[in-house]
Amino acid sequence: MRLHRFILDLDLSADELVISDREATNQIRNVFRMEAGDPFIVCDGKGIEATVRVVSDDPSTSSGPSAIVAKVVDRRAVDTESATKVTLYCAVLKRENFELVVQKAVECGVSAIVPVISSRTIKLGVKLDRLQKIATEACEQSGRGIVPAIAEPMSLRLAIVHAKPNATNFLFEPGSPDFPETLVPSGIVSAGLFIGPEGGWDPTELDLMHSADFTAVSLGPRILRAETAAIAATFLATRA
Ligand code: SAM
Repeated sequence: MRLHRFILDLDLSADELVISDREATNQIRNVFRMEAGDPFIVCDGKGIEATVRVVSDDPSTSSGPSAIVAKVVDRRAVDTESATKVTLYCAVLKRENFELVVQKAVECGVSAIVPVISSRTIKLGVKLDRLQKIATEACEQSGRGIVPAIAEPMSLRLAIVHAKPNATNFLFEPGSPDFPETLVPSGIVSAGLFIGPEGGWDPTELDLMHSADFTAVSLGPRILRAETAAIAATFLATRA
């Protein structure tokens, strides 16, 4: 049986955990109806997780729901990260499409996501708290141990500077050469993936990325929606 898994900001070196996060206590208590002795998994979001068992749960305090105490049974490092640290630089898309990109890219194994404001970006803002929550839930669900950071939106010029330390950067643009059998060869420690907005990159932006020595690649002869391209590119890059 697969145990329920929560990512919580807790020090897992302790023998007993006091879980006070409202959403987690509500799920443990009211959704999964766990009782003393029931096991579940807690991950710290930084690469360590522990199997724990409920010790006590006293929901009936006058000051609202109380914490749940859990005993650590064992702890371990989580080894589900991609060998290549992949950063997805994706133009800000319509809210639900950008949220889909965050959820699926995190499931695929992205290390960080940078929302990019390009000249053809229609929607300018993102709700970072909500996106970070979606990223955390995608990690809980997919068994990841490290929650990717979602950066503040930045201009393409700044994103290019941000991407400079990457071992390689890919500009995804229809009509470019097909990528070789594997997008990122093994041994490449970090890669940036640049995905344009619904209307595509404008010619000046393409020049900027070419001047920064990005490798232009195609995802095939069909024009994909930006969210499809972002998810497919992340999947390919995290295979190394
Ligand atoms: N009208 C735009 C054009 O023809 O370039 C379409 C933009 S597409 C909907 C949004 C983004 O997804 C593109 O800027 C690109 O980054 C990526 N994309 C979509 N299809 C692609 C393909 N076949 N190869 C590479 N990138 C693709």
